[in-house]
Amino acid sequence: MAAIIVLLVSCENLSEVERIRVKSFGILDDGRNVQLFTLKNDRGTSVEIMDLGGVIVSLRTADATGNITDITTGFNHPQQYLSGSGYMGAIVGRYANRIANGRFSLDGKQYSLAKNNGDNAIHGGLIGFDKKFWHSVTESKSSEASLNLTLVSKDGEEGYPGNLTAKVTYTLNDRDQLVIDYSATTDKVTVINLTQHAYFNLNGHGTGSVLDHEIMINADQYTPIDNESIPTGELASVEGTPLDFRTAKPIGVDINSNHEQIRLGSGFDHNFIISHAVEGELTLAASVLSPSTGRTLNVYTDQPGIQFYTGNFLNGTLKGKDGAVYAQRNAFCLETQHYPDSPNKPNFPSTILRPGEQYATRTVFEFGVNSER
Ligand code: BGC
Repeated sequence: MAAIIVLLVSCENLSEVERIRVKSFGILDDGRNVQLFTLKNDRGTSVEIMDLGGVIVSLRTADATGNITDITTGFNHPQQYLSGSGYMGAIVGRYANRIANGRFSLDGKQYSLAKNNGDNAIHGGLIGFDKKFWHSVTESKSSEASLNLTLVSKDGEEGYPGNLTAKVTYTLNDRDQLVIDYSATTDKVTVINLTQHAYFNLNGHGTGSVLDHEIMINADQYTPIDNESIPTGELASVEGTPLDFRTAKPIGVDINSNHEQIRLGSGFDHNFIISHAVEGELTLAASVLSPSTGRTLNVYTDQPGIQFYTGNFLNGTLKGKDGAVYAQRNAFCLETQHYPDSPNKPNFPSTILRPGEQYATRTVFEFGVNSER
């Protein structure tokens, strides 16, 4: 009987209205109200996203037995996202990942950014896109629901040139995919690299280690880092290194390896060069399985790189949702992106956006279960 009820619930036909809910998530210390949007599909999957930072606050998916759990880390109150939150769940921009020494030049002109990661710039600066309010519009159709977010980043904001209009659309469909479409235009030459910084734990966000998760990364090469996590500029083969995930293996197998790159990253914190059959086309970049719950996550993207980060700098001090403690390696990120420090690396694919050009990219998080488990 219980099994029949589960089946009925998970196959319900949702109306367009039922696919989206909006409520207040809370008030920031400065009085601003934060909105929380819930997108649902007919598989029982739901995602909560706030207009502050376009942050994924929760993501609930079914395991192999139909049990629905929140598989992304986060906080109970929006204020907690404004300081030291590790970019949990956020849209990161204008330039995700690191820019060496917080500077770059474009068309012969030098630009300086805040050094918010040692001597380097990271994730868009002191008040990056993750801490800005996005204008939000919802849209619901018969088999999917979307949240359209728009942000205007002013010329000179965080040191970046050009008034940039960025749009991010999250779409949750009935195929259990969360599709993220990014687009942007500028009125002056600038650089851009947007990503989604969700931290996943397919066993449930507060359940501890992810080292048992098995991961495949579709990459023959990666960009080695120096002792400040800045790419050296080399494109290195993963062959014979702990960074070879072409055949799935548990995250924990090589994470304490003595390999120099693992020591420099304090675990995995590297940009992998996705093996695209056709450059710029959507392809499977990574696939993760939680053996204990059977949950799977496939990440597809048209971007050239993906940062695999194993929560090496989580240290248990953040007060997570529902009393959760996020300690080292209790979650992983798969950040689709252009390579870190591309503005200073002429041999990397370009991140330059010029007036009249359109930045447009797509990443898909696809949820599922491996029923053999
Ligand atoms: C970086 C990590 C960093 C984390 C939180 C990731 O994208 O690769 O080094 O600790 O973001 O900022």
